Amino acid sequence: MSAARAEALAALAAVRPPLAVVAEPERLAAYEMDAYVQKRETPLAAVLPEGEAQVQAVVRALGRLAVPVVTRGAGTGISGGATPLADGVMLVVTRMRAIHAIDAAARLATVDPGVPNAQVTAAAEGAGLFFAPDPSSQVVSSIGGNVAENAGGIHCLKYGLTVHNVTGLRAVDGDGDLLAVGGEALDSPGYDLLALLAGSEGNLGVITRATLRLLPRPEVTETLLAAFGSVKAGAEAVSAIIGAGIVPAALEMMDRVVIDACERYMALGLPKSEALLLVEVDGGTEEARESRAAVERILAACGATEVRVAKDDEERAKLWKSRKGAFAALASVLPDYYTMDGSIPRRALPEVLEQVYALGREYGMVIGNVFHAGDGNIHPCIFYDAAKAGELERSEELGGRILELCIDHGGTITGEHGVGLEKLRQMCLQFRDGEIAAFHAVKAAFDPAGILNPGKAVPTLKRCAEWGGMHVRGGRVPRPDIPRF
Ligand SMILES: Cc1cc2nc3c(=O)[nH]c(=O)nc-3n(C[C@H](O)[C@H](O)[C@H](O)COP(=O)(O)OP(=O)(O)OC[C@H]3O[C@@H](n4cnc5c(N)ncnc54)[C@H](O)[C@@H]3O)c2cc1C
Repeated sequence: MSAARAEALAALAAVRPPLAVVAEPERLAAYEMDAYVQKRETPLAAVLPEGEAQVQAVVRALGRLAVPVVTRGAGTGISGGATPLADGVMLVVTRMRAIHAIDAAARLATVDPGVPNAQVTAAAEGAGLFFAPDPSSQVVSSIGGNVAENAGGIHCLKYGLTVHNVTGLRAVDGDGDLLAVGGEALDSPGYDLLALLAGSEGNLGVITRATLRLLPRPEVTETLLAAFGSVKAGAEAVSAIIGAGIVPAALEMMDRVVIDACERYMALGLPKSEALLLVEVDGGTEEARESRAAVERILAACGATEVRVAKDDEERAKLWKSRKGAFAALASVLPDYYTMDGSIPRRALPEVLEQVYALGREYGMVIGNVFHAGDGNIHPCIFYDAAKAGELERSEELGGRILELCIDHGGTITGEHGVGLEKLRQMCLQFRDGEIAAFHAVKAAFDPAGILNPGKAVPTLKRCAEWGGMHVRGGRVPRPDIPRF
């Protein structure tokens, strides 16, 4: 055993109250990657604290030794945020899963970071309330991970991302000190540290408790499935719906590659088409019915070849089954796929999707699209076979080109999955030196020794300079000096 590892294990053994430490290689295998399966690493150790005091003690003990701390929730992140570092310790919060309070009058829930997302709604259901952010991973992904990635989901178009549904956080910073930010008031003095922590990818603090906004269940929900003869027609319908002033609760799209995969996997009897739109509107009885009628008119005007409307909850669940099971179904296309996550202005959807398919043809790779169309959050899935030499690398290169396309259309390199390890290069394209330097300054304020998830989410300026020299995008030198507003 290396001296550094022995020292770290001794420091963890001295933590009071004593905590579970995993150090055996065969048990550490459980933590060697998250859902960004392209990268794996064995950490020095993993610890499973059961409370905030232990988290503080771990961060302080490892901070004294300058050992990196990588926080892990459920490990469903797709950008490598919870990929271990070989010289670091995994701080796994899955044992911190108490729901401390459901306050129906204040419409707030206070929970530990390891609580799975779906359990918040399950706990609030009796009071007629729900927690709106609903990533497709919600049965397992943790509230801490949702906050750290600022997770989105099917219903975020109307109800907002995680950041819009969190009112308070407690977090342990890089010095092991406790920060309590936000609260119940609508505004508060000082800088908005709550917003900074949301989406901070384990770089600024270990989230130890979250106060979440709960919403009343809408009276009526209407769900429609519309088929289109082309992806372009479906994408144009998305803009038409939003342009008409309707804010659907959900507006999802999938293309033929995904529709065919769903049929093979689940035999749902979906309409034969090039694109499907799932539209959900909700609210009071009158409001929902009126919105549904307006959506039906728009879908017809945009050339929908078939529209199905769910008559009850059972039919609604059936319509959603394809979308909810789509990622599992994709395994039937090729052995492996790589899910990209970029964001673009909605109006650019038809053009960008066309260019995404063109890139797929250029690389000779199949791309399927299943995504939050209403948010302009695209998820092109690139299919490959990792057993074939060079295919993984080609899929990664193609993924990078898709993200650059998003930037070129005024979008961003992530809509909800975060940057992690996966998108470090594209951060250099999205931001200028001054902005990257500001990110580092913020990190230093929370984590002066730089022990919290180092090397993730924000690239060093040196790496950007190296990559910038090697990589010219669309004939232009990346990181333009002019702000893109
Ligand atoms: C099948 C599938 C579907 C998905 N669908 C969606 C979707 O619809 N929308 C979406 O947004 N994402 C989706 N994801 C991605 C993923 O589920 C989310 O990013 C989720 O928020 C990660 O939560 P987690 O608990 O698994 O976090 P992890 O993967 O464990 O960690 C993710 C990041 O958060 C940090 N972190 C975790 N816990 C804490 C904490 N307590 N304090 C500080 N930092 C912490 C980690 O260091 C890491 O950087 C999906 C993933 C899969 C596999």
